[in-house]
Amino acid sequence: MGEFELIRQYFAAAACARVGGDVVLGIGDDCALLALPAGEQLAVSSDTLTAGIHFPDPCDPYLLGQRALAVSTSDLAGMGATPIGFTLALTLPEADPGWLAEFARGLDAMAAGCAMRLIGGDTTRGPLSMTLTVFGRLPAGQGLLRSGAQPGDLLCVGGALGDAAGALPLVLGEREQGTAEAAALLRRYWLPQPQLALGQALRGKASAALDISDGLLADCGHMATASGVLLRIEQQKLPLSDALVRFAGRDQALQYGLTGGDDYVLAFTLPTEALQALQAEGWLLHVIGDVAVGAGVQLLNADGQAITLASQGYNHFSG
Ligand code: ADP
Ligand code: MG
Repeated sequence: MGEFELIRQYFAAAACARVGGDVVLGIGDDCALLALPAGEQLAVSSDTLTAGIHFPDPCDPYLLGQRALAVSTSDLAGMGATPIGFTLALTLPEADPGWLAEFARGLDAMAAGCAMRLIGGDTTRGPLSMTLTVFGRLPAGQGLLRSGAQPGDLLCVGGALGDAAGALPLVLGEREQGTAEAAALLRRYWLPQPQLALGQALRGKASAALDISDGLLADCGHMATASGVLLRIEQQKLPLSDALVRFAGRDQALQYGLTGGDDYVLAFTLPTEALQALQAEGWLLHVIGDVAVGAGVQLLNADGQAITLASQGYNHFSG
């Protein structure tokens, strides 16, 4: 199977590659063409996933397809953008029809759930790796930046933390699967759900936001730096799932929730009135702390005393 036959059969023919919505021209020409409604801005983000670093190799290609698109689309959620489409630059060691069919089926499943369309890409031979670039749109000036947090705002997250990090020993085969807890954590690793609707609901309400990919403390550090404020996190307010606490024990679960990566849950700051407005709309949000004058991130115990931590999250080039 040649490069063009591969593109045609597995990607151009996929359900998610159909044109429509804001996609005027899809796969097959030199460029895709997107039509933006008047008054909207384009949101763009790229993520690379490399075998052995961002996912185990070998792994289930169906799950990999879903996870790759979910991880990339989560950046649109963190910006408050409405999804349009994505490109896929895929590097493969070989053209394995069974692998390609399952990978494309996984992409299709996640694309359907996120209203995303595959609009183009590139296909090359080499060690397994993929770069997805996602495109979204939002009303001009309403993007959720990391830089707007104000002293006095509340710090919130959109869901339970640490499950995907808790699943890593299972993903890597270091712990037995088979329990209900293990299955729940594995779902959170392989099938993160980008919080797109929440991101869009935060437009015009949140003062700052991002999606947590490197761990709560590390990502809050980015928001604190961009905003020039101190973010205070009350440790006992961290939302941890029952599955994670049962699987890992409370202390380890807390560590995963603070520093584990791959959650793809939104963290954001907002004034109290905005929290009440969102709760009135039915959003279940977790207030985990607040914004103060100062710099960096402070973790507080139940008595309000500052705690120091050795590790703050994942960084590819540190140490
Ligand atoms: P070019 O020579 O212009 O770079 P290619 O021959 O690489 O074009 O690709 C042909 C068409 O197929 C282009 O529209 C490109 O966007 C698309 N394409 C290539 N690889 C992929 C892929 N993995 N997934 C989706 N579309 C792809
Ligand atoms: Mg090309």
